[in-house]
Amino acid sequence: MKFPKHLITLSLPLICLAVCYCAPTQIETAVPSVSEFVKIKPPHFSKLPTSSNPKYAIANLIEISEVDPSIIIHLQYTRPSRVAKSPLYSKNFPALLRPETALRLKHANNIVKKYGLRIKIWDAYRPPSAQMKLFNASGRDERFVANPERAASQHSCGTAVDITLVKANGNAIPMPTGFDVFTPQASSFYNHSDPVVAKNLKILQYAMHSSGFHHLPREWWHYIDINYKNYPDTVPLSAINL
Ligand SMILES: [Zn+2]
Repeated sequence: MKFPKHLITLSLPLICLAVCYCAPTQIETAVPSVSEFVKIKPPHFSKLPTSSNPKYAIANLIEISEVDPSIIIHLQYTRPSRVAKSPLYSKNFPALLRPETALRLKHANNIVKKYGLRIKIWDAYRPPSAQMKLFNASGRDERFVANPERAASQHSCGTAVDITLVKANGNAIPMPTGFDVFTPQASSFYNHSDPVVAKNLKILQYAMHSSGFHHLPREWWHYIDINYKNYPDTVPLSAINL
């Protein structure tokens, strides 16, 4: 059967439009199973970057944007949040980490890029004074917020980071919960019925574990550098002179 030429000319753009519209925005790449990715040896960095900002360099911190400008920064505590009803940080508060932790995050971001995604930062270095305010704002509830009088938060040492995944253009994708939502769905091990949420969480866990991060069982968004013991000291806000 032969189609009239003008019909083919008309229908081709429509077919292309339909394919583009229906095509998944995520690149379909297989995600390794947990038993596979836990065996991946995390990277070792023989040379660590130094911040171009002398204040941060002296404190042995670096802005994440200096290490990987494609990581999206959206610090949650620059505005009222679920736990802290008033902002803990100033509007221009920087997203800082230890240089080694920042390099691990860059490594993880390169992995999620294979899936058409990006890491988005919810929180990074958190001054000890902000940790104290957060703990008090939680009603001093140690189930959800680390008590800084008992032990230093890894955030205050610059070795912990709270993250989610977004599309390359920054748009949200289905993830288990929002930030600081303390429901069973926030568990790193929750069995999500939505296969898209389950897959996105698995991509995050694969990227972070194979880059050298531990997860926190109760918060799917919280990760700690495996070498956190090399950086035991908290960094006071005064050290970065903000
Ligand atoms: Zn955290």
